[in-house]
Amino acid sequence: MTGQDSADTSSVESWVVSAGRDRRPGSPLNVPPWPASNFVLGEGRSYARDDGTPGWAALETIVGGLEGGSAISFASGMAGIAAIFNQLPSGSVVALPDDCYHGVAELAHAGERRGRWTVHRLAVIDTPAWVKVCGEADLVWLESPSNPLLTVADLDVICAAPRKRGAILGVDNTFATPLNQRPLALGADVSVQSVTKFIGGHSDLLGGVITVRDENLFAALRRSRELTGATPGTLETFLAVRGARTLAVRLERAQRNAMALAERLSRHPKVTLTRYPGLASHPTHAAAKRQLKGFGTIISFDVRGAASAADAVCTGLQLIQHATSLGAVESTIERRASVSGQEHLPPTLLRLSVGIENVEDLWTDLDRALRNVP
Ligand code: PLP
Repeated sequence: MTGQDSADTSSVESWVVSAGRDRRPGSPLNVPPWPASNFVLGEGRSYARDDGTPGWAALETIVGGLEGGSAISFASGMAGIAAIFNQLPSGSVVALPDDCYHGVAELAHAGERRGRWTVHRLAVIDTPAWVKVCGEADLVWLESPSNPLLTVADLDVICAAPRKRGAILGVDNTFATPLNQRPLALGADVSVQSVTKFIGGHSDLLGGVITVRDENLFAALRRSRELTGATPGTLETFLAVRGARTLAVRLERAQRNAMALAERLSRHPKVTLTRYPGLASHPTHAAAKRQLKGFGTIISFDVRGAASAADAVCTGLQLIQHATSLGAVESTIERRASVSGQEHLPPTLLRLSVGIENVEDLWTDLDRALRNVP
């Protein structure tokens, strides 16, 4: 690949459209899927699990450039996150937010039960506790905005805090996307994208990309991918690159929709609480304004009544899909306490991932489903 090697050299909107292309005369504009595992020995690649394919490289160039570091693509966001946890020596201390993607919490607590490390859960908003734990923990894990309560951490302060020697500070940047937030520039060691979400953007692939600054950590994570076989699929990376091309425009539209819907939901008689970092009433609105270029596309809101009322909203919607996951062109909604490992959440909390549909159509759908609840 030739061309710019970092989003710093052009606007991100242009970078994401042009990066990772093969610019040699006669090359296809888009790196095609490479269904190949084995190569003629001699020069270059020999085996895809070790050496990757041009499709992986294109995705890594794009996401690495956006995040501002060196990227390694994985089979899913969780595969990349597991590779980071696997770097920890036994007896390590892990600091984890009280609100984060439940898969990460389950991974951390499963490792704790097996005696691999101990886990300390900290409130996302307790910045002094995070600063303190930076000096004590071997892995400091942050997710901002958090899933699903959308709490924004003081990443600028926490990432700059002195760390224990050899410690890793990782930020799951999936909800913000690298267009709204660049944790590595704030001092984090690792930034995570579940490519399944916004980068892919069409609910048609699983993928993950981990971006780092340190060469040794990069080499260790690459090796981990080789040895565990947590490699991305050929078609998946092709689709992820295609999705990334429209990331900026999708995000812009979906964020505008989300802001409008959050404001209206916050005044709706059937809604008791609306969480969206862009609302002045949001507990971490000030941090969001400071840290995020845009407030994102996820809204969490509580429906008046019992869990059955929230379920009725989900099944009463016609345009918005009743489905898990997020970050796609289509809007999706789910009652999060119905998901295993999320039972601690308010039983009526709905997590809405706002897509790129017409905002008035989305509102008509939501308002009707809410009003139809007894
Ligand atoms: N991080 C966050 C914030 C997520 O929401 C998810 C999945 O929902 C993941 C990581 C895991 O990503 P994947 O499903 O690609 O493994």
